[in-house]
Amino acid sequence: MPEQVVKQRSRGFICVNAHPAGCARNVEHQIARVRSNMPSTSATDVRNVLVIGASTGYGLATRIATGWGLGCRTLGVFFEKPPAGRRTASAGYYNCVALHQAAERDGLWARSINGDAFSDEIKEEVAHSVAGSMGKLDLVVYSLASPKRTNPRAGTAHTSSLKAIGSPFTGKTIDLGNGEVGTASVDVATDAEIDETVAVMGGEDWRWWIEGLSDAGLLAPGAKTLAYSYYGPEVTWPIYKDGTIGAAKQDLKATADRLNAKLAQEVGGAAWVAVNKAVVTQASAAIPVVPLYVSLLFRVMKAKGIHEGCIEQMTRLVRDHLAVADGPQFDANGLIRLDDLEMRPDVQQEIAALWPKVGTGNLADLADFAGFRRDFNNLFGFDVDGVDYDLPVETEAFLP
Ligand code: NAD
Repeated sequence: MPEQVVKQRSRGFICVNAHPAGCARNVEHQIARVRSNMPSTSATDVRNVLVIGASTGYGLATRIATGWGLGCRTLGVFFEKPPAGRRTASAGYYNCVALHQAAERDGLWARSINGDAFSDEIKEEVAHSVAGSMGKLDLVVYSLASPKRTNPRAGTAHTSSLKAIGSPFTGKTIDLGNGEVGTASVDVATDAEIDETVAVMGGEDWRWWIEGLSDAGLLAPGAKTLAYSYYGPEVTWPIYKDGTIGAAKQDLKATADRLNAKLAQEVGGAAWVAVNKAVVTQASAAIPVVPLYVSLLFRVMKAKGIHEGCIEQMTRLVRDHLAVADGPQFDANGLIRLDDLEMRPDVQQEIAALWPKVGTGNLADLADFAGFRRDFNNLFGFDVDGVDYDLPVETEAFLP
């Protein structure tokens, strides 16, 4: 396939193509960030890491932080589109191609499996790969974000929804298409919609992964498993913490408690939930209210010199919680809190003061919507510093 010039193509605010060179630069940037922020002598016995949802966002950053930060062997699972003719691959696909090239260059062991993580086939393929070429797992990170799940055992298809629970909600938001500040109204979820969202984003599939790996004897002594959640400030609670997605996250925490008891008994291991900060990912950009809140958050945290993206968060997770002799620090509810800087009272007070004032006319002054947009474009490899978008690039690239 001849090289082609790739310009960003959007449908509404959603980007429908990806730039391989921009994605590769993003991966290299994350590797460099981990290397400069991780001490060379980290106390860890974590060697073999499985990341489920490893191609973008928090999962990709987890893989890079454990691989380049701790020298771990990583197996990544994700669901991404390869290139087809003149159609580019999805961004996550290019990210993983770049990750494999960097791993080979840097002498790191890395394998990837592209397919539906909710299916029994992919679980079996992973178990086979772990048994055949990796050795027992020390850490399994569950970082899936998906709008749909087919439950392979019941043969049922589930769709999640972003709705309120109890009473409808109207909140301030940004229209990502035209950058105008307006309101978004969110309906009340039915009981069936709550159940559906829990079926997609709750803990059942995570539990099946861990039970399968444990039954196959593929968890090392002391193995840990970890999933990610979000808490956020009160303005986002009706749509997040107290909404359908929050119900799924409660289920995830209940699953962690259950898995924690199981792993403690079976391998002397543990299961945890880390509460991460709000960042721009394909998953978070889809949630009403969140882009406006994140734009204000970026503005306030950048002014204070404490801004973080996925890779800074995952570097802290690995450096301060996973690679320390006395293990992670937990809050009163047993959660690892990586949103500590986001939730700092001075940060939240400033956002609360800006929230009623921000509108279309002063968005650029009061919020960092430009930063939000740049991060969003970066997710697809566009708007990345150092990439010449007028030059043709090879869009055909394949995972090993
Ligand atoms: P993301 O959209 O960037 O990544 C999702 C990953 O899941 C990708 O690797 C994708 O390929 C994979 N995936 C989706 N469906 C799949 C399937 N069927 N089979 C295999 N892989 C599949 O999402 P993210 O924002 O990084 O979210 C990851 C986790 O972090 C979620 O639990 C989310 O709730 C949590 N989190 C996100 C934020 C945020 O601000 N983005 C904050 C706190 C916690």
